Formats: sequence, C-alpha cells, structure tokens
Amino acid sequence: MEFEAVIGLEVHAQLKTESKIFCACSAKFGADPNENTCPVCTGMPGVLPVLNRKAVEYTIRTALATSCEVQRKSVFARKNYFYPDLPKAYQISQYELPIALGGHIDIEADGGTKRIGITRIHMEEDAGKLVHEGEFAGAQASLADLNRCSVPLMEIVSEPDMRTPEEAGAYLRRLHDVLVYLEVCDGNMEEGSFRCDANVSVRPKGQKEFGTKAELKNMNSFRNVEKALEYEIRRQVETIEDGGRVVQETRLWDANAGVTVSMRRKEEAHDYRYFPDPDLLPLVVEDSWVEELRGTIPELPGEKVARLEREYGLPKYDAGILASSRALADFFEASAAIFKGAPKTTANECVHWKDAILAGKLTPETIAHAVEDRENGTISATASKKLVEAVLDTGKPFRRLRDEKGLTQVSDASALDAVVDKVLAASPKEVESYRGGKTGLLSFFVGQVMKESRGKANPKIVQEVLKKKLG
Ligand code: ADP
Ligand code: ZN
Ligand code: MG
Repeated sequence: MEFEAVIGLEVHAQLKTESKIFCACSAKFGADPNENTCPVCTGMPGVLPVLNRKAVEYTIRTALATSCEVQRKSVFARKNYFYPDLPKAYQISQYELPIALGGHIDIEADGGTKRIGITRIHMEEDAGKLVHEGEFAGAQASLADLNRCSVPLMEIVSEPDMRTPEEAGAYLRRLHDVLVYLEVCDGNMEEGSFRCDANVSVRPKGQKEFGTKAELKNMNSFRNVEKALEYEIRRQVETIEDGGRVVQETRLWDANAGVTVSMRRKEEAHDYRYFPDPDLLPLVVEDSWVEELRGTIPELPGEKVARLEREYGLPKYDAGILASSRALADFFEASAAIFKGAPKTTANECVHWKDAILAGKLTPETIAHAVEDRENGTISATASKKLVEAVLDTGKPFRRLRDEKGLTQVSDASALDAVVDKVLAASPKEVESYRGGKTGLLSFFVGQVMKESRGKANPKIVQEVLKKKLG
C-alpha cells in the first residue's frame, strides 16, 4: 500500500516590538537574567496588563500580508497551567476569537505554485525560561529567568495542506521571509524568534479521512523540521505496516540521534480551562486603522521573485535567492540600474558577495563596475574577483584600484598580434598538429599567450586571434 503524509504547522513568531505585550519592560533578547521584569510580567497580585498597540499593529500587518480576514473584535483568554517559568500560572492568549482568520500563502512546489491555507493568527505572551545549572542541596539546581515572560508572540496556524517535508520547508521559509520583509519579526531561529511545531499524520493514498496525528516539537532550523518530518512519516508508515496503530501524542525531535521520541500522550494532555481574561477588554480594531495598515504592506517575496524574473530576465532560482532578503534584492536592483548590460551576471555577483553586501561592506557601484568592466573585456573574471576583495580590504573605489594595480587586460587584437606570433613560432610541432586536426590544442596556445602576457591578455580575444592565425 502507498501512503501519503498530511502536515499542518503552528508557527510562533516573536514580534519585533521594543517592549513586552502587556507591560513596558524591554522585549530585547540577551539581557542579564530577570533584568527585564516588573510586577506585571512576573504576575504579582493586583497588577493590570495594558495591551501594546505596536504588537497589535504588527499582527494585523501579518494578517493582511497573508490574506487573512482581520477580525474587528477579538478576545484575550487565560490558558491555565502550572510551570515554574510561568509565575501567573496562566498564559494570556487568544482562543475562541482570534485576531485573524482564513488566509493563505503560496509556495513553489513541484515546479508550480501551491496554496497553503492559514487557519488563524492569534496573539499571546511568551513564558520564561528555566536554566538547569549548578547544584542545590546536592541536587541539580534549576534557575528561572523571567525576561521572556510576556514577550509578544503571534501564533500562525496552517491548514493541514502540506503533503511532503519539502512543502513544509517551503511554507516555513516563505512565511519566515514574509515576516522579515514586513519587519514584524527578526526571524532569528537560534534565538527562538521563529519556532515551529509540526503536526503530521499518514493515510493510504486515495483515502479522504485524515489519519491520527502526532505533534513534533523542538526543531530549531528549517532543515531540522524537514528531517523530523521525514523520520516521523517513516515511523508512522512502518507502525501501520507492522500492524500497529499511530497514537495521538506530542513527540520531541532529538537532533543528535535523528529521531522523534514520545513526550506525552493525548490522555496526559493539559486541560487549559480557557476563559476570557477579565483584566482585558475585547480588542476592537477600527476599519480605518486596518486600511491604513494595508497601505504599509511592501512588495512581498513571492511578488518580488515574479517581478525580478520578468523585469531582468532572471531564472526563477536566481530571483528566489535575491528575494530571500529584501536588502539583497534592493542591492541587486541598485547595481543593475547603474550597469544595465548584464543583469544575470550582476545577480551572480550579488549572490557571490551576499555576506559582504548584507554586512554593508560593498556598494552597488562596486558590483556594477566589476560587472561592467568584465563584460566589456577591460578586466578578466579573475581580476574582477581580486579587485572586489581589494575593495573589501582597503575601502578604495573599484576603478581606482583597477588602475593602480594595472589589472586592465589587453583586449585590442592588434596589440596581441606580436605575442601570438611569438608563441606560435616557439611551438612549430603543436602548430602542425593543430592544423592536422588536433584542435583541442587551442587551449594550450591560449595558455601560452596568457603566460607570455603575464595574465593581461583577454582570453576571449586571444582565442579569436589564435583561430584566425591557425586557421
Ligand atoms: P489540536 O486541537 O490538537 O491543537 P488543531 O485542530 O488545532 O489540533 O490543529 C493543530 C494543527 O494540526 C493545525 O496546523 C492543523 O492543520 C494540523 N492538523 C490537524 N489535524 C491534522 C492531521 N490529522 N494530520 C496532520 N495535521 C493535522
Ligand atoms: Zn514587565
Ligand atoms: Mg490547536
């Protein structure tokens, strides 16, 4: 029997606000333990949460960018559970009435586009973090760092529309890029700003009903999500083929061992006793605000890829790499505007120097000049690369370095005549063999001429001159 997987993803994205979602504490990552805390986010009695307007704005912009319906009224709810990193013993989240419903994201799959549904987006606060460190009374000590308590998150829940780990990876990457384009999330996966829980089940191909799902946690890179899904799909199929049944459970991905392991079964699942938070009024957003925010949505990655293909004649692959970063795509367009002659080469250079470009160490002029000089034969590809490296080292302009270093190449055919003649005169046997049909010797002659000219001859022109003289 052939099986098919069904995958739905829940993404937690940290909103890039200065302060936390219900108090004025800094939401910044990396402060000393418990530095960014106050009575509100540590859940002291008698305090009142005040909703961060920026967090709402960022969530609405995300909803608009993913074609969701922004709900004019949504409600914050308490999700009750005990854990030492959650001093209030409840997390403020949204449950029955989230801020956004029913959107989608388009991904590239199997050479075409596939639409992945988004069920809902809701806002919530993060919990703190336990650090298992040192010893207390002869046992392992655990320390609570509450800096992350009440850091603003949005949870984006997809429909079970994905069928392969690759589709899940494509969805996650695209969603990630959309949030970074919107500047609502820094997208840093190592710091936990973008995390994903993956739900997966399998069913015989052709069957309509879904199988029983497992929820996978603890993957901290796109690649790990894909690997965890690959493993889990295989595990579920093998379970069924061995006559067993998949049980509903939460499983943890162990990246070192490359396996998922059971964490808790459905029977052990929490009953969170959700109820509307009496400290917070329902969130009502005005139409006019939503419309104003609609005007702030930039060109999104999918649209950018399509436009780069269309406007510059780039292959989809190249356009995709450029569009994976808004800054890189902008840099490419700035370079391609300075030298319009070879957008594909400009794209290659932007991809090649991506790290330096994103670190702000190169200007569009440098890349434009490097490409232009190379395209018109003033310098060789090797010299172009060396010169960009020299720009990075010295900060001097590309063309000044080119002239200082004397790296321009000889492209004037008549200037190469004498060198070519000398090389041919020095290798009469090879000339004879070439004329006798061994045309593969051309590269030998090119090499000799390059050597004789100390690398300054333009190899394209050298070939032309050689062919003429040998022909
Ligand atoms: P739960 O109540 O367990 O949280 P939800 O219905 O809220 O489940 O769905 C959570 C996520 O799981 C969603 O992304 C959804 O698309 C996905 N999902 C639901 N059912 C399945 C299934 N049978 N197989 C794979 N994914 C599923
Ligand atoms: Zn606080
Ligand atoms: Mg759910």
